[in-house]
Amino acid sequence: MKVLLTGGAGYIGSHTCVELLNQGFEAVIADDFSNSKPEAVKRITEITGKNVDLYPIDICGKVALTKLFEEQKIDAVIHFAGFKAVGESCQKPLMYYRNNLDATLTLLEVMKEFNVNKIVFSSSATVYGENNPIPYVETMPITGCTNPYGWTKLMIEQILKDTANADPDLSAVLLRYFNPIGAHPSGRIGEDPSGIPNNLLPYVAKVATGKLPKLGIFGDDYDTVDGTGVRDYIHVVDLARGHVAALQYADTHKGVEAINLGSGKGHSVLEVVNTFTRVNNIPVPYEIKPRRAGDLPEFYANAEKAKELLGWEVEYTLEDMCRDLWNWQSNNPDGY
Ligand code: NAD
Ligand code: UDP
Repeated sequence: MKVLLTGGAGYIGSHTCVELLNQGFEAVIADDFSNSKPEAVKRITEITGKNVDLYPIDICGKVALTKLFEEQKIDAVIHFAGFKAVGESCQKPLMYYRNNLDATLTLLEVMKEFNVNKIVFSSSATVYGENNPIPYVETMPITGCTNPYGWTKLMIEQILKDTANADPDLSAVLLRYFNPIGAHPSGRIGEDPSGIPNNLLPYVAKVATGKLPKLGIFGDDYDTVDGTGVRDYIHVVDLARGHVAALQYADTHKGVEAINLGSGKGHSVLEVVNTFTRVNNIPVPYEIKPRRAGDLPEFYANAEKAKELLGWEVEYTLEDMCRDLWNWQSNNPDGY
């Protein structure tokens, strides 16, 4: 099966591409490198020994995307391409709506034209919004988000549901990721955020290298195990494996399914920092700061549906995630 990965040079796309190639799929990447580097694609080949056809294109552009579909016999698509920074989406909402929605609409139109009817989409736990109880289950009402980034995910989920309703041949799997962290155990690919990281683990890694002086922990007075925020962290290789399973599911089922990809367990910020320090034997200086606006105290997945429908569950522990993150960061202190 030949799979198109939009945004395949990015953090999750590159790891998924490695898993696909290792399992005998062919892969084509379309990425405009707005948040990634071509070097990531070279390293995919280095790890797997297999070639990937790369299209350095903005997938909002129909002409370029149509050319790709003309040149390649695509069987299925995994759609990662999009902007993903929550804070930036509040400052530049139009840029987020334009890119994330346009990319999806163009992609679906071109897929239809070429009779490609299997798609796996990168959604997010953020679609559960503020009011659902934890753990989050796929049957919960999805009613609204707290930021434009989240709204793009929710809107794209709706676009895919409506498209599948109108087209009985379409298979769409909406993967709701929890918090992906870590890196490929080879240390050759990993997360490479530009500027000062917003997310916890990339920040911890920069503090560990000495590039940032200390971590700010946003709040220690939540009603959680130790007062700090709790999230469901998932190793990016487990997440990548989940995409392969989702693709296999889409190959044999029609219609739309939303599926959580999480471990089903929550870890606090302090647990994460202490685990990173313990497994890597590196101190991570921190200070307690005020809560970050918009943060929820605690959320994690109910991971049963992924187990039942995809036969998938996580294999890596928090220790593995911290170790593999440091392996990547220490070997690539300046990223790619
Ligand atoms: P990433 O930024 O590393 O990867 C996204 C890739 O898409 C980048 O390589 C970027 O250059 C590319 N891209 C963006 N717009 C494009 C366009 N118009 N045309 C072609 N390429 C384009 O992000 P990631 O962490 O790998 O996330 C992948 C997907 O998963 C995103 O849709 C993101 O919203 C979603 N997601 C990520 C997380 C997370 O914590 N990383 C959580 C939930 C959902
Ligand atoms: N966090 C923190 N300091 C940071 C970044 C994040 O204390 O510099 C906390 C944040 O408040 C949350 C957890 O770490 O409780 C995960 O945050 P992240 O931004 O990685 O993911 P998200 O909030 O999107 O789930």
